[in-house]
Amino acid sequence: MSRAKNFNAGPAALPLPALQRALDEFLDFSGSGMSVMEHSHRGKDYEAVHDEAIALVRELLSVPDAYDVLFLQGGASQLFAQIPMNLVERGRSADYVVTGAWGDKALAEAKTATAMLGAGARLAGTTGEGEGKDKRFVRAATAKDLRLAPDAAYVHLTSNETIHGVEYEVTPARPFPDAGKVPLVVDMSSDFLWRPIDVSRFGLIYAGAQKNIGPSGVVVVIVRKDLVAAGRKDIPKIFQLRTAADNKSLYNTPPTFGIYMIRNVLAWLKGLGGLAAMEQRNREKAAKLYAVIDANASFYRCPVERESRSVMNLVFRLPTEADEERFVKEAKAQGMVGLKGHRSVGGIRVSAYNAVEPAWIDALCELMQGFARRG
Ligand SMILES: *Cc1c(COP(=O)(O)O)cnc(C)c1O
Repeated sequence: MSRAKNFNAGPAALPLPALQRALDEFLDFSGSGMSVMEHSHRGKDYEAVHDEAIALVRELLSVPDAYDVLFLQGGASQLFAQIPMNLVERGRSADYVVTGAWGDKALAEAKTATAMLGAGARLAGTTGEGEGKDKRFVRAATAKDLRLAPDAAYVHLTSNETIHGVEYEVTPARPFPDAGKVPLVVDMSSDFLWRPIDVSRFGLIYAGAQKNIGPSGVVVVIVRKDLVAAGRKDIPKIFQLRTAADNKSLYNTPPTFGIYMIRNVLAWLKGLGGLAAMEQRNREKAAKLYAVIDANASFYRCPVERESRSVMNLVFRLPTEADEERFVKEAKAQGMVGLKGHRSVGGIRVSAYNAVEPAWIDALCELMQGFARRG
């Protein structure tokens, strides 16, 4: 079998050893005579997997005791509504910082959810330029872009805008905004677990699994316990974060196979040396690719400002759309897939998540060099 060099944005490449382990255990999980999918979520065989997955998240990120680690469903998109439902009390408002399409969506859902519940959500700053279909996002926000309310329920931002290739804090020049005492709530769907972070800086972190740590169907949430405890109780129980927190994410049937795959992926990540080693590997991949773009600046152009260039989703343009189409086709012929930019922005997007092998990036860089030379 020849494995594709998969640069998909999500669902995305998974590490071969994690898939191989699933294959080995598929029909007979730990000698039980059945697949992990066929086990009760209340049984001890599954529970061991569930606990290990939570423990791996805690260990890899050194999650402090004051935080819960939850596995939820509905995708990051459901959390766009569920977070404001929980964390914005009646009469209060949450601040949103928008640096791309996902932040825009999060704000729109927060407005709807809070309006139903006698609360609010407002745009506290954006780096978007232009309107409608021509709206561009080329950088993370800085203090100058923001009008934060000191009494906001929280400040929400998207650490990595998957479509626009704009990421916070890849250089010290573009840190996460300082929200003072107001909790930071961050959608880390497309840059979760690519490097170590200090969890204590955040009130809540959430991430859909299908970008960097597993298959679709699971959202990982890391949340301060006091925020969970203070969360609203006048919303359906199934949406309250405390329901998952009080029941170790086993209130109802969780996506057991997805959580099992997360266990496999995180065990692989730990085996490679954990997040510090992964950060080095990811930064080297991104540096190589951006170097090819910059060395061929008359042919390739990255629209994102240097300080905000994403390490996870690297976007660039070629001279014409016809060139881009040809490029995607040539890449495909060489076993490289998933390079077409998001339909809303066009261009090329290279998603270089943890599971994307450095050798795939080398192959892509070589193709890019040759393609630019031939013109
Ligand atoms: C993919 C993505 C989402 C949406 O995730 P779903 O699981 O499909 O709801 C939200 N935010 C970011 C940053 C993403 O990359």
